[in-house]
Amino acid sequence: MVWREVMLPALPTTVIGSYPRPKWLREFIKGFRAGRFKERHMREAFDDAVVAVVRDHEEAGVDIPSDGEMRRDEMVEYFAERIEGFRFYGPVRVWGNHYFRKPAVVAPLKYRGPMTVDEYLFLRRVARAEVVKVTITGPYTIADWSFNEYYDSKEELAFELAKIVNREIKELEKAGALYVQVDEPALTTHPEEMEWAVQAVNKAVEGVGIKVGLHVCYSDYRVLRPYFDELRVSQFALEFANRGFRDLRVVKGLSKELGFGVIDVHSRRVEEPAEVARAIRKVMRYVRPECLYINPDCGLKLLPRHIAKAKLKAMVEGVRIVRKELARKGIERIPLRRDLVCSE
Ligand SMILES: [Zn+2]
Repeated sequence: MVWREVMLPALPTTVIGSYPRPKWLREFIKGFRAGRFKERHMREAFDDAVVAVVRDHEEAGVDIPSDGEMRRDEMVEYFAERIEGFRFYGPVRVWGNHYFRKPAVVAPLKYRGPMTVDEYLFLRRVARAEVVKVTITGPYTIADWSFNEYYDSKEELAFELAKIVNREIKELEKAGALYVQVDEPALTTHPEEMEWAVQAVNKAVEGVGIKVGLHVCYSDYRVLRPYFDELRVSQFALEFANRGFRDLRVVKGLSKELGFGVIDVHSRRVEEPAEVARAIRKVMRYVRPECLYINPDCGLKLLPRHIAKAKLKAMVEGVRIVRKELARKGIERIPLRRDLVCSE
């Protein structure tokens, strides 16, 4: 596709992806599972929930909304259910009292057809913003969180998944999406697998012409750092608020954009706009303002909805403080780009 030049305000604000499901939606899902509602009612409820989420994002002033991943119970399960070759055993305990229906690969994986394109098209229709974000779970994380009962190695499985994710991103591109985020929370959890894990991510984004962010959750980013140049993504969306913005030096010399995490998703305390502004000024010592996007650390899913919304609002207000300072230096708008050379 021909790249249209889309302009965004400096320090574009966005979300990582997930957002709390409205209470009524959670109740409705229970009712649906108990057989009290039809499929089309469930679909309608998901659509209504997405509208509510997009309004929350827009009212908070977020420039690039997502659909809050309203239709997804879990980030690996959602894709495993839609790719041929997976089956599900019972739930396994992941942490505390949280359970996860761990998928198993039992046959050759096959792409059945678009998994997120309808989500994107619906979001596109209801959002006022020109640019929206679509998230997709990356090949390494899907491989890492699944039982492999078919392929010879986890590496082989990850590369098969990478081909499928690549097809999906290309379908999104064809449908008109401008900005996709690959979520790889597991990427740095087995440092000894990083070499091929990075290649699997590159395979997943091969030949993609739209903007691709890569989100890696809280971990030791020094494991990721040696691969910043090699990873063929447009942007790294990383967590920093949760650790008090202490190790910002890790992004020094970053050659891609940074999606800078300024909101702690593990705390219910709503940040002050002034502290968000302070954090942004601090990271600008290492990353040029033209190469910065501002987002919460991670998905907001586990917070109460009113707190999630208040945090987004504080984030946007903090950004507005810094935008005024940047405007005085003549930096007001930046283009949405697939590749922006960000190192100085
Ligand atoms: Zn995360």
